[in-house]
Amino acid sequence: MKIAPLFGLIFLAFQVPAEAQTKVAKPRNIILLIGDGMGVSQIYAGYTVSRGVLNLNQFKSIGFISTHSATDYITDSGAGGTALATGKKTYNGAIGVDADTIPVASILELAEDRNMSTGLVSTSAITHATPASFIAHQASRNNYEQIAADFLKTDIDVFIGGGYNHFAKRSDQVNLLNELRSKGYQVVTRSDSVPLITRGKLAALTAPEHHPSILQGRGNMLPEATSTAIRLLSQNRKGFFLMVEGSQIDWGGHANNADYVVSEMLDFDAAIGKALEFAMADGNTLVIVTADHETGGMSLVGGDLSNGSLTAKFTSADHTGVMVPVFAWGPGASSFQGIQDNTDIFEKMSQLLGL
Ligand code: MG
Ligand code: ZN
Repeated sequence: MKIAPLFGLIFLAFQVPAEAQTKVAKPRNIILLIGDGMGVSQIYAGYTVSRGVLNLNQFKSIGFISTHSATDYITDSGAGGTALATGKKTYNGAIGVDADTIPVASILELAEDRNMSTGLVSTSAITHATPASFIAHQASRNNYEQIAADFLKTDIDVFIGGGYNHFAKRSDQVNLLNELRSKGYQVVTRSDSVPLITRGKLAALTAPEHHPSILQGRGNMLPEATSTAIRLLSQNRKGFFLMVEGSQIDWGGHANNADYVVSEMLDFDAAIGKALEFAMADGNTLVIVTADHETGGMSLVGGDLSNGSLTAKFTSADHTGVMVPVFAWGPGASSFQGIQDNTDIFEKMSQLLGL
């Protein structure tokens, strides 16, 4: 019997319902790495310049997410971060609140409620939109000092990033570093001190505002902070949730500067390598790599994989509406295959952790 192609496809779809696939293993720990503004072009630019050598190459479970916000086809990092962190679509500029400005619990807060350890790492201010979406609840991403104060309202174990001024040089004259110390945090203000911390709670505010770019000499801050955070958080047998952000891939896109994009992409990939290294040795850790949106409408119009040269063009100085990839490795990784919404990342993470 001859089956029309379309009918054949429908028949197959009924034959293999998603639920019938093998039972999904559950991770104890999740490391979520967000490349701000990292679309497929940004990744392939890094791939080209590194002549095909990326830690990302090791991922087998790959999908795409849509990134639109509740109000706009093109999201900002507040709404994009909030969707990933809380599973709720919201308006551009929101931090951990829904479209009606009502606070919504984040994956980090839900993990804290279950006595898991939690952490945030970023090359921008730790109070900037992406990390803030996981811990703060503010109507505007510009409320940096209120966002800093929100860090004292949860029992987050480790945070490493810039934003010292939002904690220590505030308009209300309150020095939140003293409050952090009285809550048991080791407070560190130099990047080179971070790798020396071996246990306990850590608040590392290692830049007044944002860290410099890789091109301006940031060095290994991000991969080293990622390693330190994993070392501290993994001492909890109940598991941990860690979010690591490569913040400045986005800023390279806004600047339409391919060298800026590539150097930040490769630095972010080094942080991915630290997460994978731990996950491969541990066996109970799910590593997820995704983005909040693409930036710059970047396209690669020329290049050479043998010498790592690249010609890029940009169609925008802002974010774009294209889907961005999601890569997963470890127990539960297959859940992230296919086309999904950014809010699904939260749903799948919380389900896999049983939160
Ligand atoms: Mg960001
Ligand atoms: Zn941006």
